[in-house]
Amino acid sequence: MVDYIAGYLDNISDRRVTPNIEPGYLRPLLPEDPPLEGESFNDIMADVESKIMPGVTHWQHPRFHAYFPSGNSYPSILGDMLSDAIGCIGFSWAASPACTELETIVLDWLGKMVGLPEAFLAFPETSKGGGVIQGSASECVFVSLLAARAHKIRELKISHPEEDEGALLSKLIAYCSKEAHSCVEKAAMMAFTKLRILEPDENHSLRGDVLAEQMAQDKEMGLIPFYVETTLGTTSCCSFDNIKEIGPVCEKYDVWLHCDAAYGGNSFICPELRGPMAGIEYASSFNFNPNKFMLTNFDCSLMWVRDRFRLTQALVVDPLYLQHSYSEQSIDYRHWGIPLSRRFRALKLWFVIRCYGVQGLQKYVREHCRLAKLFESLVLKDDRFEVCSPVHLGLVCFRLNGSNSVNQKLLSSINASGRLHMVPASLGDKYVIRFCVCAQNATDDDIEYAWNVIAEFATDLKELMAE
Ligand code: PLP
Repeated sequence: MVDYIAGYLDNISDRRVTPNIEPGYLRPLLPEDPPLEGESFNDIMADVESKIMPGVTHWQHPRFHAYFPSGNSYPSILGDMLSDAIGCIGFSWAASPACTELETIVLDWLGKMVGLPEAFLAFPETSKGGGVIQGSASECVFVSLLAARAHKIRELKISHPEEDEGALLSKLIAYCSKEAHSCVEKAAMMAFTKLRILEPDENHSLRGDVLAEQMAQDKEMGLIPFYVETTLGTTSCCSFDNIKEIGPVCEKYDVWLHCDAAYGGNSFICPELRGPMAGIEYASSFNFNPNKFMLTNFDCSLMWVRDRFRLTQALVVDPLYLQHSYSEQSIDYRHWGIPLSRRFRALKLWFVIRCYGVQGLQKYVREHCRLAKLFESLVLKDDRFEVCSPVHLGLVCFRLNGSNSVNQKLLSSINASGRLHMVPASLGDKYVIRFCVCAQNATDDDIEYAWNVIAEFATDLKELMAE
């Protein structure tokens, strides 16, 4: 398997980046029923190559420029292999002490690497903060919203003991920008709380005055603000909400401020890229995904809280069979999230940080930023195209000057060719194409190749439209 993996990654560019199949392609290729007797591993692997691989979208392919990167590296793969072999379920300290302790230590390392205030770290022991690995940024957002909801209701019950929890819940209101990830809307829906989606400024950044004005209006209407979700590196165009302005508004109204930096947060390991973190001292919680932009395989989404008791108070259920004699002196991560069972995910992160070092990881981030700028310069040289938003990190949003439908045609024909893979986004009323630098070892040649494919398709499309 190790040889197969190495061969796969070494020769990935011999494959099409996206599969050329239709939905339902696999069913006729596999038996209707499972085998009664075990089969040889060679037979299974032969089917991987002939039946599974033709249906795989190759996220590690140098022509993959869609979404955000899916982190990958050999140290990370090996860390996950070892985690699978150990096969522990680290829901409490006692269930596997190293699994818990390494997670706490590595999260402190990473907190320092991205420049989080000390209050977010678990050490020294007097600290109320700490970090945890969750399965996804969506979970971080959901869990922080649940914690904020529980905290606000608990506070309100003190001042209004006669009020029913359900009645209080019906008055709670959360806020985010129109540019926030859809997981925020989903979290509010699942938590049964109202959500106000606010208009960002012309740079797609949520500003403090917009939030302050809306909160004041909502308070006047009898609603109770309890949670603000901000994004540092939005999905559409990698814009940054202005947490320096938003923070004091949250403080004034005693509202939980969460910062979702799923992709962008990785870049904060480079001190010169930390500008958007100004105001982070106001945040109650913060998350980013090394499984996007730090060479670490999915799943690995990191979340820090300033006050871990506020988080766990919303999530603690403590049956006898999960208790142990060291609960007072240790962290039980089952109280920090939704699932009970947890893999030993800190291992891969520890392997990655040790193998690359902080400097190696910084070099990787800076290289992707440089390559995005290179792509931007190629777009700007061709007056048929425009760059649609300021270029941040490894993402460029661009489009052909023309209608949305022309851009839709351009993107769908490029994607159908299997020569390149990108996805669209909407910015205001504009359909834009997102070009993200994704491959771990992307080069100038890869960027130039991608641009040549795009320019060639644009020429063909213009000729077709002229006919
Ligand atoms: N938040 C942002 C800013 C994102 O860009 C994404 C996904 O790209 C998410 C949240 C959702 O991430 P996850 O798949 O880890 O839930």
